[in-house]
Amino acid sequence: MGQTFLADATVARNIVEAADINERDVVLEIGGGLGILTRWLVRSAKRVFVIEISRQLVRALTERFGNRDNVQIIRGDALRIPLPRANKVVSNLPYHISSEMTFRLIREVPFRLAVLMYQEEFAERLLADPGSREYSRLTVDVRYKMEVERVLHVPAEKFYPVPAVDSMVVKLQPRQRGPFAKNEDVFYWLVRGVFAYPNKTTRKAFRLWLKSLNLEGDSIDRVLAACHDHLEQAERVRHLSLETLVSIADILWELVEQGTLPFLGGKTSETRGR
Ligand code: SAM
Repeated sequence: MGQTFLADATVARNIVEAADINERDVVLEIGGGLGILTRWLVRSAKRVFVIEISRQLVRALTERFGNRDNVQIIRGDALRIPLPRANKVVSNLPYHISSEMTFRLIREVPFRLAVLMYQEEFAERLLADPGSREYSRLTVDVRYKMEVERVLHVPAEKFYPVPAVDSMVVKLQPRQRGPFAKNEDVFYWLVRGVFAYPNKTTRKAFRLWLKSLNLEGDSIDRVLAACHDHLEQAERVRHLSLETLVSIADILWELVEQGTLPFLGGKTSETRGR
């Protein structure tokens, strides 16, 4: 898919304003393009790192900002190269890497605020409430780590070339308030497992997931019995709130520690397939 570039300076300024940049901020921008956001970032930030994959655009950015000593233009694939430390991230993210890049930022950059533009449909999934059509594994995985807030709707006409869909700017801030799972790996294992069946009844989805782990029928019954009260709280998987999922993950973790349930999940950082 070709890139689309923001073509409205007011929208660019609004995005940067939402990040409330000051002279102590070190800002990371993924995909600088022609610099429409960079232009506003460099005015206030202590330092701006811009990662851009296109050689041509790196040349254009260097011509435009090369004489400023608070900007570093880095040519490379933002999914692959080491990411600089920054306390803020401001980007109109390349749409084809939205999911993977978001998880990489969350995992590897210790930011306290990110202001990110996504395709509207993707942003709605980040903002979704339990029970809604957009509520999914992506929602839960991101919201386990981040508070997500709607900032600005940006119509397709504000871009060049005009894309087929509108965009949305959101703020991500590390979630401070609980609950947090006793074991994060178990939490993500559970979410990955049951959100494979978002529309199934919760009990059915749990059975299917536990069966896929090669658990015997009576072991499955034991796990379901231990989680019974929480499973009752949501008719279908897509009704399961973050709080309920954390409670279930804590029960599963106890079962793992007791040796009743084998832990077959990986490390938390899996980012694909959401
Ligand atoms: N910030 C500019 C704007 O708002 O107009 C450009 C945004 S455009 C949606 C995305 C930019 O990301 C393009 O300049 C594109 O070349 C760059 N890009 C695409 N994939 C990338 C990657 N994997 N790593 C770094 N930059 C990438």
